[in-house]
Amino acid sequence: MSEVANKVVIITGASSGLGEETAKMLAHKGAKLVLGARREERLKALTDTINSEGGEAIYKTVDVTDKAQVQALADTALEHFGRIDVLVNNAGLMPLAPLDELKIDEWDQMIDVNIKGVMYGVAAVLPSMRKQKAGHIINLSSVAGHVVFPGATVYCATKFAVKAISEGIRQESNGEVRATNISPGAVSTELTDHISHKDSKEMADDLYQDAIGSDSIARAITFAIEQPSEVDVNEMIIRPTKQEL
Ligand code: NDP
Repeated sequence: MSEVANKVVIITGASSGLGEETAKMLAHKGAKLVLGARREERLKALTDTINSEGGEAIYKTVDVTDKAQVQALADTALEHFGRIDVLVNNAGLMPLAPLDELKIDEWDQMIDVNIKGVMYGVAAVLPSMRKQKAGHIINLSSVAGHVVFPGATVYCATKFAVKAISEGIRQESNGEVRATNISPGAVSTELTDHISHKDSKEMADDLYQDAIGSDSIARAITFAIEQPSEVDVNEMIIRPTKQEL
């Protein structure tokens, strides 16, 4: 059995893209999955597919900007499976636009989902991981958490924050809780669909012509989880070979 088999894994943002692909991959390796996002139909379809193919998954709708809902997601995992081994803090959004556009509602949304949502996830799982003296928190940062791009200031700020949070979890882990920061480059998902600023959308569509598949990130997440417990994969940057920055 691999180190993935029977681990209880919560994935936020499991209704599409990286979260969905990771759920499928971990299910094939025998993980017990607790899937969260806002779109119930998508979660239900994914859960049904996984369970019909011999995997084990449940879902709960969650808006990660609501800390009570994030706690309820973790509580569902504990009630159903008795423990939480891994949290994949994956829910996020990237409505790019230059600062001059003053899209302050989108700034708020990115801060609420990409930073506060990640912290609510940490708060929801850390107590039970402390009790177990084991656990693993995997955060989705980005290349934009390492490099600042014009037109992506707030998104970059949120992803730099995620990188800092991952490193903080590592430093405060007491040698018990593993922390992995995953930083993808352009990956083909629904992420760019929500860019409301026309020029930024065109720029992103251009960059994403060389985007790689979600399976590349699902494999990285799987790799981090399947290491033995004394091995903590802290940082991975995964870009398309053709991506410059
Ligand atoms: P998608 O848009 O395909 O998926 C985003 C997921 O986040 C969806 O499942 C969405 O579900 C969920 N989500 C958004 N807002 C909320 C919310 N308020 N509460 C709960 N769930 C929410 O994009 P990706 O799969 O690409 O994105 C996954 C992560 O990877 C993000 O953090 C993103 O920043 C990061 N990333 C992606 C890259 C890429 O090129 N694709 C590059 C670098 C990082 P729903 O709408 O159903 O709630």
